[in-house]
Amino acid sequence: MSHPLMDKMRLQMQGLEQQGLLRKRRLANSNHAIDFSHNDYLGLASSEAQANALYEGALHYGVGSKASPLVSGYSKAHVELEQSLCQYTGHEAAMLFCSGFSANSALMSALFNQDDVVIADKYVHASIITGIQSSNAKLARFIHNDLASAAAQIARYPRSTIVTESIFSMDGDIAPIDALSTLAKAQGSLLIVDDAHGFGVLPQGVISAEKVDIQIVTFGKALGCQGAAILASQTVIDFLVANSRHYIYSTALSPACAHLALNAINLCQQPAARSKLMANILLFRTQAKAQGINLSEMADSETADSGMNSLELVSSLEPAEMNSHERVINSPIQPIITGSNERTMAIASTLADKGFIVGAIRSPTVPFGQARLRITLSALHSSEQIISLVNALKCALEDTP
Ligand SMILES: *Cc1c(COP(=O)(O)O)cnc(C)c1O
Repeated sequence: MSHPLMDKMRLQMQGLEQQGLLRKRRLANSNHAIDFSHNDYLGLASSEAQANALYEGALHYGVGSKASPLVSGYSKAHVELEQSLCQYTGHEAAMLFCSGFSANSALMSALFNQDDVVIADKYVHASIITGIQSSNAKLARFIHNDLASAAAQIARYPRSTIVTESIFSMDGDIAPIDALSTLAKAQGSLLIVDDAHGFGVLPQGVISAEKVDIQIVTFGKALGCQGAAILASQTVIDFLVANSRHYIYSTALSPACAHLALNAINLCQQPAARSKLMANILLFRTQAKAQGINLSEMADSETADSGMNSLELVSSLEPAEMNSHERVINSPIQPIITGSNERTMAIASTLADKGFIVGAIRSPTVPFGQARLRITLSALHSSEQIISLVNALKCALEDTP
């Protein structure tokens, strides 16, 4: 068919193909490879306890919510999950979404308009950017995890809103939440944290309402299921319920899924899975270092010199409770910077041939020239699997110029 849209699509696809940037789906784990690419850090996605919880939730509340939360889709299963999230984090109120992408887009587009300034870490998730863009707010960025840069923007736009993540999805490093919270409070600014990768596994414990005004948690990462929540004050949640088009005009999260997420919150607080995850992260890093593999040290600017002492705001900060070393070793996301898109794809493909799936993250998702393997650890990986991954990785890195 010839239509201007069809011609435009063909042209764009050809361009992407030529640049090696064409994204395609692939069937998950069709050859029983060992998967180091997913975000199921605690192994809850395939747990029998969770399969039972889903069944129980479905029997008790039904598989479908049948309507928008503002019509008749808001049930006891949703209320119980919201209450549990509030109890866990100290926020006053919560609202649920079917995905983190829609929660972020809903929040940003309902909260802001053209009169607002949003100050965001350079690496915040695409869903946050999409939401801010559709709100028409002014977007100011600060250098990734760089407190001096954040402080400069906060001083420039006082009483605005700061947005960051807890554990960054592509770099695996942990934001200096305490320091950002102090900065935000000093300037009368709000702090929003997207806790998608941190919730359930953040090494320094759960992020709470004490530090953060609005928190987004997602259920598809460490909780191993599906959906998301915005946690905030009652005023903010009431406003969003009344004004968020993503919430009002969309069928509520399945009540069975709400019950499932509630059970996952209870499971993720059990120390056994978490300590196995931490042991696996440590094993991976120790093995990789022993093999001479260059791990990201994720120097965070809270302890790095970036001229931040010149800023009065920053020098008045409390000492961080974690040093940069601790921030690195505890992250389930371990990137290995490989450089070009082509080299990264070649290494990932060699590893796939040897039976290991790792994430291959290319520009434009990450800055050009910083393509990387994104290796994620889970509590379910065995020591043997981790050791054999590192051995295969060493060979693939050496053999691929
Ligand atoms: C995965 C992710 C989201 C989106 O959450 P989904 O539930 O997968 O839609 C939002 N923010 C960050 C930082 C994420 O990593």
